[in-house]
Amino acid sequence: MATRALFPTLIYRQSLGGAGWPRFNRDLLDECQALAASDAAGRRWSARNYLGGYTSYGSLDKMHLVSPRFEGLKRRLDRHVKAFVRELHYDLAGRALGMTDCWANVMPAGVAHSLHLHPTSFISGTYYVAVPKGAGALKFEDPRLSRQMAAPPRRSDAPTAFRAHVGVAAKAGDVVLFESWLRHEVPPGRYTGERISISFNYGWS
Ligand code: FE
Repeated sequence: MATRALFPTLIYRQSLGGAGWPRFNRDLLDECQALAASDAAGRRWSARNYLGGYTSYGSLDKMHLVSPRFEGLKRRLDRHVKAFVRELHYDLAGRALGMTDCWANVMPAGVAHSLHLHPTSFISGTYYVAVPKGAGALKFEDPRLSRQMAAPPRRSDAPTAFRAHVGVAAKAGDVVLFESWLRHEVPPGRYTGERISISFNYGWS
């Protein structure tokens, strides 16, 4: 073949799995809702930075260190992150991979989380606790987009891997992982109920 594809951008999606998942997820859901109701500092931070929704990003961003349930989630996530890092061919021999941040997000319909990346981290991701029908997928941006100064638009029937923006739809129980430098956003959606997710970062040392 004359043409090769190089420099892949990997995105991982898989069911969290583990014993007793339905019960485990229900408990996490309860805890996220309780957090949103009781975390006054987080609600103040969200009112300024997360309009219409709640996130513990500005108040309780190391939930895995303070909540046994979030710590249980971390334990279940570790093997997914390890598998993803293996697929990326990073050399972690003699290095430790560990969760550094973990926070909860509660988004009623219409709430958006604009385009961003996760600086100072290695691998980032989200675990989906509740995804109402119609709740927006996680949208990723081609990391080379800012360099494509004179390129024409892609054809509308271009394969997914060639598109400038790709939405990854997730359902409750799914884990989505990506490298922390990859820009992404949660577009607003129309749905009933709340989209509840737990986001996290992993680093190496
Ligand atoms: Fe993010």
